[in-house]
Amino acid sequence: MKAALFESFGQPPVVRDMPDPEPPVHGAVIRVNATGICRSDWHAWKGYDPAVRLPHVPGHEFSGTVESVGSHIQFWKPGDRVTLPFVCGCGRCRQCKSGNHQICDNQFQPGFTHWGAFAERVAVHYADVNLVRLPDAVDDVTAASLGCRFTTSFRAVAIQGRTAPGDWVVVFGCGGVGLSAIMIAEALGARTVGIDIRKERLNRARSVGARAVIDAAHVYDVVQAVRDITSGGAHVSLDALGSPETCFNAVSSLRKRGRHVQVGLLLGEERSPPLPMDRVVAHELEILGSHGIQAHAYPAILSMIAAGKLQPDKLVGQTVSLAEGIQALHTLGTFTGAGITDIDRFDKLPRKKGGMV
Ligand SMILES: [Zn+2]
Ligand SMILES: [Zn+2]
Repeated sequence: MKAALFESFGQPPVVRDMPDPEPPVHGAVIRVNATGICRSDWHAWKGYDPAVRLPHVPGHEFSGTVESVGSHIQFWKPGDRVTLPFVCGCGRCRQCKSGNHQICDNQFQPGFTHWGAFAERVAVHYADVNLVRLPDAVDDVTAASLGCRFTTSFRAVAIQGRTAPGDWVVVFGCGGVGLSAIMIAEALGARTVGIDIRKERLNRARSVGARAVIDAAHVYDVVQAVRDITSGGAHVSLDALGSPETCFNAVSSLRKRGRHVQVGLLLGEERSPPLPMDRVVAHELEILGSHGIQAHAYPAILSMIAAGKLQPDKLVGQTVSLAEGIQALHTLGTFTGAGITDIDRFDKLPRKKGGMV
């Protein structure tokens, strides 16, 4: 099979012919139909993710067709069209037994803990617990775009944030996670405010339903601007970017008894940002984390897509080949475009086709 390999951190990945994987006894081999390119892949490529060991194949948000299954698999067979969460649970630990596979004690993360889907085939573990059957109404590229950012946003907004009709939801950072959050919150009947420092992302936020946007590059007091728009503060705030400033401002933008959901990762020196804890106490604010989603939560999302209430395909900016995807990875650290990029072709030579790189 063709696969894109990180052979050293920060150096250009290479496309190589590799042996096809074998299915683990509790797993499956999936022929990849489409795979998303995410900032987490860039983190792994730069060597910022301790789970990643070289040589490594990235790719954690994908859809495909089951090609073979391990001897202990009960529920899946070759030909099934599937996707899976980027955090896969073991199904046996205390967290999984409570239904919280997204924080499993023995996580399998394709593209991080194991080789991922920047390849024609990928071997996955715990397949009975984690595979999700795709309805015909959801195409391969759309399904791949769910894998990380969209489903993560769904859990953050609907489950952790407990977003209700009529709520104001403020979203800091309008990349893949933020745009997904805006679309999902609006579909749940909430009203959204999108914040970013790039015009094209703010335009995209409006196009997926944001009632208001704030250009933080030109507005001096972002928190006051949110309070003005929402008549006193948001019911739910999301830091979809992950920075000390956006985290602080997101918490500060809440009204009394508001709920902040942290989705963007804070790494390295930024991992312990200051927070307005005086406000958290006096206003009874909640601060919640959100980390992926369980496979068993997918049917609710897929049925909203099938019913036309959610349109994650609107978030896909372009589709590219594997070789072009590697090029796109280079620019993710300073990525200024809008929307999700998906690999849906595994030919070796770059092919020019529309879209924006
Ligand atoms: Zn991702
Ligand atoms: Zn587990």
